[in-house]
Amino acid sequence: MPELPEVETFKRYVDSTSLHQRITNVDVRDAYVLKRVSARELVRRLKRRRFENSHRHGKHLFVRAGSKLWLRLHFGMTGSLEYLKHDKIAPKAARVIFRFTDNCRLAFDDQRKFGEIELIEDLDEFLQTRGLGPDALEISLSHFKAIIGKHRGAVKAILLNQQLIAGIGNLYADEILFRACMHPATEAVRLNDKDLTGLFRAMRHVLEKAIALKTDFNRLPKSWLLTHRGKRGRCPRCGRALKSATIGGRTSWFCAHCQKRR
Ligand SMILES: [Zn+2]
Repeated sequence: MPELPEVETFKRYVDSTSLHQRITNVDVRDAYVLKRVSARELVRRLKRRRFENSHRHGKHLFVRAGSKLWLRLHFGMTGSLEYLKHDKIAPKAARVIFRFTDNCRLAFDDQRKFGEIELIEDLDEFLQTRGLGPDALEISLSHFKAIIGKHRGAVKAILLNQQLIAGIGNLYADEILFRACMHPATEAVRLNDKDLTGLFRAMRHVLEKAIALKTDFNRLPKSWLLTHRGKRGRCPRCGRALKSATIGGRTSWFCAHCQKRR
């Protein structure tokens, strides 16, 4: 499921492939992913425009196509983007394809169709209406401490709550807690100043490193939990069997020896 690092990687991909070209058409192969916009309206409003720049907030990607027009992309469970040149055939699960001149295309691919495409006019208004918290890579240490320290509940559930901090999903939350040597069920109110600083640093490190490696799981460090999580997985730090538990409604993987409750 695309989280902040994957969506940031998609943002950079759009920036390097799809900006400043005239949109000649939009093929909607499956309107299920369109939210609050019809296929006809999407085509009408984007045709002859250009994608000018992009912005990411949490797991949402916004691509600007005019002074008051943004294309919002959310990647759900299996969404991704592929830029196709000339005669390259679009992937089977391509739901919407943005066509540029010379038959270059940007395909929004989504096997399971939990993704979303929408047109919005005001980015700030959208973020407010959704009640999204600050982006996990934009938030300052002091703001982070204020948010985490103020909320009751398991630290993992707080990291996952997009209304508090936007961008972190299940996999990276586990990784951040593993790096911070913190049990996912730790009550956030029990964290002291040093714990919160350590958690903040772990969050930044994990997200930035994953982006730098273009979220290629094969290149992620072997010292990370991500490449070991799952049944029969062993802690890359101490070698003990990893444990799982449902926390914040999601399956968490952790090492009960290395990650202590506070
Ligand atoms: Zn361990």
